[in-house]
Amino acid sequence: MLKLYNTLSRTKEEFRPINPGKVGFYTCGPTVYDYIHIGNIKSYMTADTLRRYLTHLGYEVKHIKNITDVGHLTEDDIAQGDSGDDKLAKKAIAEKKSPAEVAKFYENYFHEAEKKINILPAHFFPRATAHIPQMIKIITALIEKGFAYEKNGNVFFSVKKFPDYGKLSGNTLSNLKVGARLEEHPDKDDPWDFALWLRAPKEHLMKFDSPWSIGYPGWHIECSAMSSDYLDDTFDIHTGGEDNIFPHHEAEIAQSECFSGKKFVNYWLHTRLLLVDGIKMSKSKGNFYRLDDVLAKGYDAMALRILILSSHYRSQMNFTWESMDQAKSNFERIVSWLNNLKNIATDTPQTKTEISFTHIYQKRFEEAMNDDLNTPLALSVIYDLITETNKLSSEDKLSPTTAKEILSFWNRINKVFGLIISNQEKIPENVILIAERRKQARNEKDFQLSDDLRGEIENLGYSIEDIKDNNYSLKPARNASHSDAGVEKII
Ligand SMILES: [Zn+2]
Repeated sequence: MLKLYNTLSRTKEEFRPINPGKVGFYTCGPTVYDYIHIGNIKSYMTADTLRRYLTHLGYEVKHIKNITDVGHLTEDDIAQGDSGDDKLAKKAIAEKKSPAEVAKFYENYFHEAEKKINILPAHFFPRATAHIPQMIKIITALIEKGFAYEKNGNVFFSVKKFPDYGKLSGNTLSNLKVGARLEEHPDKDDPWDFALWLRAPKEHLMKFDSPWSIGYPGWHIECSAMSSDYLDDTFDIHTGGEDNIFPHHEAEIAQSECFSGKKFVNYWLHTRLLLVDGIKMSKSKGNFYRLDDVLAKGYDAMALRILILSSHYRSQMNFTWESMDQAKSNFERIVSWLNNLKNIATDTPQTKTEISFTHIYQKRFEEAMNDDLNTPLALSVIYDLITETNKLSSEDKLSPTTAKEILSFWNRINKVFGLIISNQEKIPENVILIAERRKQARNEKDFQLSDDLRGEIENLGYSIEDIKDNNYSLKPARNASHSDAGVEKII
């Protein structure tokens, strides 16, 4: 039985969907006035892993991830519901593009990055600018029901009208009064009220017509509007980064529950923020990384995927280049293991005992994942399987049937890990160096040396074939066990 830590109850709860066999699932997506960074990727990967695992368990998942293409206010501003900069407009001015062009550019970047790291695309990516009428409908109803009020073209949600305010974050009104910084807005009845709609100053680029003013929506209302539009008034799961808990998700609950009179979301999952070199990522500290920065250093996107899976989504992950090296080596270990299994699987059956043990690993894998998506434990199950398999292989005890069984087990669970394993065997560097020396020997017509080097290559478990223009092609020799040859390293 899958258990998930629900921020709302602060406990691990058994997951029970509203409709048997089906899951409705909403993730707060990117604000497209800047590049997404590896911290965003970590958060989207939590949602991706959850979705993949729910699918593995047989659920039919409907996943929505919104695109915030109206420049919302800064977090502090939002907390207080104050007017602030339109970030998209600011960027548009700086980049001499229209806000729509800026949004499209960063949205494309976001999709590209998700694709590179193999995050499954959501079933729908609704854009905030396309859902203004739905937001206006909710705001209108909130005013009619007395939960919101309009003043000078601005509309605010009246926090004190919703007694449950604070149930997600613990930031109840009495707590707030002690802790939070406060900025007054002349039109607010109470400093803790937050904006649903704001009148746009003349110079504001992104503005929309509404019953109250030409203006723009508050950030929170877009997620309330889009989630109910694509899912229902009540849906199963909502995910986001821990920085979304307050005020964003607290405000979503207040708006949605006052609008529908029903519970908004059953399970809230939040990903802990990522640290880089032990501190919060920031552009000014120079520790702000995008996926491209990781790829530019020669790492495979799958190494970053392994690194993120190697820490639990609710634990504090510290990104360092050393940890990337470790993840790279773990990824290479998996690739090497799979290549070895593929070689053995194509062997003609010999008189080896067929052992069946993947069901034990499948059970351990599911136990780990059922425990609030414990991906580091699930990965360690695979590393144990690799150790056991390699031992059998080195003792020549692994039959082709067993190898095939392990490969099919891997293919099932890798739908959850989401690792892209290239089919192309990578040739170790030392083998390439010998091949190059052989090429030179052939150029110099030293055929004795050339033959000796061919022998060396074959001893390492590879075959070399001469092709035109004095080039060559290197392939793993069939039946070779690379781990036996001591060449675990893959380039
Ligand atoms: Zn949201």
